[in-house]
Amino acid sequence: MTVLSTARQALESGPVCDNCLGRLVADRSFGLGNAERGRGLRVALALEDDADFDPFAGGCWVCEDECERFDWWAEQAATAVQGYEFDTYQVGTKVPPLLEENDRLLREDSGLDPEAGERMKSEFNREIGKRFGELTDTEVEFGRPDVMILCDLSTDEVDVTVNSAFVYGRYRKLERDIPQTKWPCSDCHGTGLVQGQPCEGCDGTGYRYDESVEQLTAPVVKDAMEGESATFHGAGREDVDALMLESGRPFVIEVDEPRTRTVDTETLEADVNEFADEKVEVEGLRLATYDMVERVKELDASKTYRMVVEFDEPVTSDELTEAIDRLDGATIEQDTPQRVSHRRAAKTRIREVYEMSGSLGEARSTSEHASEGASGEQSAPRGDGERHATIEVHGEGGLYVKELVSSDEGRTVPSLAGELGVGATVTALDVLDVTGEDEPFADPDFFRD
Ligand SMILES: [Zn+2]
Ligand SMILES: [Zn+2]
Repeated sequence: MTVLSTARQALESGPVCDNCLGRLVADRSFGLGNAERGRGLRVALALEDDADFDPFAGGCWVCEDECERFDWWAEQAATAVQGYEFDTYQVGTKVPPLLEENDRLLREDSGLDPEAGERMKSEFNREIGKRFGELTDTEVEFGRPDVMILCDLSTDEVDVTVNSAFVYGRYRKLERDIPQTKWPCSDCHGTGLVQGQPCEGCDGTGYRYDESVEQLTAPVVKDAMEGESATFHGAGREDVDALMLESGRPFVIEVDEPRTRTVDTETLEADVNEFADEKVEVEGLRLATYDMVERVKELDASKTYRMVVEFDEPVTSDELTEAIDRLDGATIEQDTPQRVSHRRAAKTRIREVYEMSGSLGEARSTSEHASEGASGEQSAPRGDGERHATIEVHGEGGLYVKELVSSDEGRTVPSLAGELGVGATVTALDVLDVTGEDEPFADPDFFRD
């Protein structure tokens, strides 16, 4: 069967528009639109029959003249996204089952396979999308576009989904007792109410802590991007009572339904830092892609910690140095710590200590907190030794550092307590650095700027 005999049969079924006609042979002649294919077939038939040319005059029984409305749909869609800044889009179409059935009937009438040519839906997506892109001066994107448009042919309505925008950075936490994200009160399950009365556990706020790294940063980003809400995603988290110092911890703030995507990140950084009031500091803010959320959450990262350690008996400088030398670069076997065994299945982990160093006494920034719990006798030397030391450990992700010090009753081997033969406890812990094991977090592929 030739394309001309197909076209002849199709036109015998009733009035068919150029698009619906051309779509039957959409897999032929790359570089043509379906309307051009359809018109070409009509012209060729007129020439073959030496008949007067008979252009399509409306009333297509297949699409019910929806193919005449691509411009209208594109204008509706452009109106629907007004007020939202975006660079990329994707257009989808909801085609009524009746029209899809017509498309199949036309193929049957034309002696074609039911799947021949192109589906009506995909022509609509492409033709409306092309026009929408020209109207709004933006690019189509099939992965994760900034906006998604759905044209519902049966209701004439356009539905817009505005995808989130993302800002990457690193944060330092300079005060203790600040959780990373909002921490709902367990007494009232975050409702702030117990039996209709304000919850005493949280003064009716619904949260265990007044502030979190999230609450000190995300609202500023949400406002800058004129979004509806914002969510904080961290590359792991430190304990509530640990500081996050030095190079900081990677994070992504996700802003839902942003009206603005292009923000000046230097200004934003200054605004966040002013809002966070020296409790938290951010740096290196950059506009990021959707994939950055998973990257900060999943990328294997090594951590560097500084800990204040209290010994059960005085330890000399030489004893400490020898013990640390044996742990520096060691492979550690750790049974699931007792403190987490209620939420993690028991198993043995093997982790590397990349680097370890330390000395007797307390480093100033880490000791502020330690002295609270050490009953005032902390730094007094006894005999030749001291009861406190400051230790820095750079370890593989997942290394339990408190247990590396204490041995967790022999469940971590080797350990500082084990090497010294003296009980040892971490009284304060700060995180100094979080670094990707094999590659840095800040991969250029994950940034938009
Ligand atoms: Zn049609
Ligand atoms: Zn409560």
